[in-house]
Amino acid sequence: MSPMQPIRGTRDLIGDDLRRHRHVIETARRIAETAGFEEWATPVFEDTRVFARTLGETSDVVTKEMYTFTDRSGESLTLRPEATAGICRALVSNGLTQSLPQKIFYAGPMFRYERPQKGRYRQFHQIDIELIGPAHPLADAEVIACGFAILEALGVAGETTLEINTLGDAESRGAYRAALVAYFTAHEAALSVESRARLARNPLRILDSKEPADREIVAGAPVIGPYLTAAAASFYEGVKEGLARFGVPFRENPRIVRGLDYYGHTAFEFVTTHLGAQGTVMGGGRYEGLVAEMGGPPIPAVGWAAGIERLAMLLAGAPESPPPVAVIPVSTAVEAAAIDILRRLRAAGIRAEMEYHGNLRRRMERANRIGARAAVIIGEDELARAAVQLKDLASGTQDEVPVMELVGRLS
Ligand code: ATP
Ligand code: MG
Repeated sequence: MSPMQPIRGTRDLIGDDLRRHRHVIETARRIAETAGFEEWATPVFEDTRVFARTLGETSDVVTKEMYTFTDRSGESLTLRPEATAGICRALVSNGLTQSLPQKIFYAGPMFRYERPQKGRYRQFHQIDIELIGPAHPLADAEVIACGFAILEALGVAGETTLEINTLGDAESRGAYRAALVAYFTAHEAALSVESRARLARNPLRILDSKEPADREIVAGAPVIGPYLTAAAASFYEGVKEGLARFGVPFRENPRIVRGLDYYGHTAFEFVTTHLGAQGTVMGGGRYEGLVAEMGGPPIPAVGWAAGIERLAMLLAGAPESPPPVAVIPVSTAVEAAAIDILRRLRAAGIRAEMEYHGNLRRRMERANRIGARAAVIIGEDELARAAVQLKDLASGTQDEVPVMELVGRLS
């Protein structure tokens, strides 16, 4: 049989890849926690209805990318393509709609049937922040600031630019939509087939099209600014002021609409020029109707999601795993004592390894091969004095150390 291969668009995370991946999650988790966000975990699959309507019937995710299947009981299930809808479903299912605000951190795998390429996979991973409850523009600023703090802690903030926009309130969007319909109708013949379909159902979506033909027409489309109501304009001012107070640099980009349908008011992306076509590292915004779609009351919220793979690619280097200490018994007679020392080192949090067999020379070779920083050599004579030989494998120096002092020396 030929060797089995992973599914197209999926990756195994091993060695450096896994360490980068974990470093992104652990850093984000730590920063989010200091900002008061608490981690949630929800199922990888949900009732298809959790996503189908809520993400927008004309969004790319729903029309082309969902992994939807019927299970053995005939129910339609979907592997989650993003975290927010599941989080809002969980808020309602767990009776938390009266316990607001909820500040949530999330990390986990997401699934989208996309054309795989660098930075774009079918199983990918996101970190995600949601602040559910507050309708205040400072909430938007705080959520974005938390994202920025994570990028800073990862050392990649310098490679990204924050771009923000407003999608206004319902009234602003209604007026803007009419202006877009007028504009795109005038250019209808040149639009892609998909965008022509969007024209009637959701013209804003055309602004997010990745078709080169559409991009050209989109470049000349009207922007939302003139169509904002006074309230929507003032909310947007509040967000920008908040960002300044949180010390987050940004650039306004009136073309940002986000790929999912549930956003209103703030929309933003952290983009980079370092990842080729996959330039969006983190994206999000304010949304209103999602909790109600899950059967709860209408509750405002703001959040973002970031691709862990894209963040991991931006990291300067892979974090090292700590080099181990090799425990080496010189004979089977001291094996029990060696295992005892191995256990003490591990109990003290020192990474320690021991081979199951082999003579001293073999074991030393193996210690070098695994990149051990030190070898603890256990011989019968030293053991009689409750001591061992400790060899520093970087400098080559070796001395006798009482067993009681070993942990202190290696910490
Ligand atoms: P894109 O425009 O790149 O398709 P999107 O608008 O579909 O992104 P979101 O749904 O906002 O992306 O997801 C947030 C982040 O998740 C993206 O900015 C990106 O970093 C990451 N992401 C989205 N889809 C994928 C994927 N298929 N593979 C890897 N990362 C992804
Ligand atoms: Mg996409």
